[in-house]
Amino acid sequence: MTANEIRVHNFNAGPAALPLEVLQRAQAELTNFNGTGMSMLEMSHRSPEYEVVHNEAKTLLKELLALPEGYEVLFLQGGASLQFAMIPMNFLPQGKKAAFAMTGVWAEKAYEEAAKMGAVMIAASAKENNYSRIPSIQDLAYDDDCAYLHVTSNNTIFGTQWREFPETGKVPLIADMSSDILSQPFDASKFSLIYAGAQKNLGPAGVTVVIVRKELLDTANKNLPTMLRYQTYAKDNSLYNTPPTFSIYLVNLVLNWIKAQGGLAAVQLQNQRKAAAIYEAIDNSNGFYIGHADKDSRSLMNITFRLADTGLEKKFLQIAKQANFVGLAGHRLVGGCRASAYNAVPYQSCLALKELMEKFQKENA
Ligand SMILES: *Cc1c(COP(=O)(O)O)cnc(C)c1O
Repeated sequence: MTANEIRVHNFNAGPAALPLEVLQRAQAELTNFNGTGMSMLEMSHRSPEYEVVHNEAKTLLKELLALPEGYEVLFLQGGASLQFAMIPMNFLPQGKKAAFAMTGVWAEKAYEEAAKMGAVMIAASAKENNYSRIPSIQDLAYDDDCAYLHVTSNNTIFGTQWREFPETGKVPLIADMSSDILSQPFDASKFSLIYAGAQKNLGPAGVTVVIVRKELLDTANKNLPTMLRYQTYAKDNSLYNTPPTFSIYLVNLVLNWIKAQGGLAAVQLQNQRKAAAIYEAIDNSNGFYIGHADKDSRSLMNITFRLADTGLEKKFLQIAKQANFVGLAGHRLVGGCRASAYNAVPYQSCLALKELMEKFQKENA
């Protein structure tokens, strides 16, 4: 069998599918990176060979996001979850409030961590609808002198995604983009800070990307432990201590892969096509499948749905498993099914899922 034939249809929510080409490249270089006679796993983070990879990843991220001047790209550990705490530690001073758009469980966690650190407020919430929609931008209510407004660009568990982002004027806009960064072009210059755990759309687990505007960085709290200060990472090119070198190496391979696809505009077209195939199976099912998210809030990355006859869900997941589909069980808070169609999930897998859903409906309606 070829490598392609062995691979499953991987709809895992995270860690998630990586491009086959990236895995093959990593495999080919695993024992001897670039003629060094060493694996990337065995190499000093101070070596010139590693530094090239490290800096290329930063440059490519800036290029793919079309980041204007004035931003730092940082590599951290601790996942997006540590960012929930680090952001208020650094940027929520006494006497100010941090505002949150509550659009899902990850937003709740970010809010709860900030509440331990300082004053918080809710700018909008979609909780009463079990997070099935994104609040409209006009409904966001926060003080003009807020420390920042925090949004979750894509809600991994509920399958909703912001279509547009607010103009926040003097209030810094901060986004958790863990599950949709680099899935489509967007205006990065609106944001003062963007963060993303790598394991959904950027690479493997172990590294978190933080993109921060230098103006915001200059206001950061200086009385924090070294490793909890963004300044530490910014000053030393994220090489103050040992970074997760192999994860960053894989992120760099993924970024090169995205560039080779044609960048974010090309990736967006693919992602739209992929999500459309699966949403079509839902929308054309006469109510056999029920999407969780409101249509105008639907995510291109995480497609959440239930079966009208919930008794059939177990059977559907079983049949999917037999047909080489992985990761389709929904999160326990939503139930049903979730297909995570991140950048690296091929169109063919999404088409195969659509066909499976149609066939299952025919046989069980
Ligand atoms: C997965 C996820 C997280 C949690 O990421 P960790 O790296 O596990 O801490 C946070 N926010 C969003 C939107 C996510 O999808």
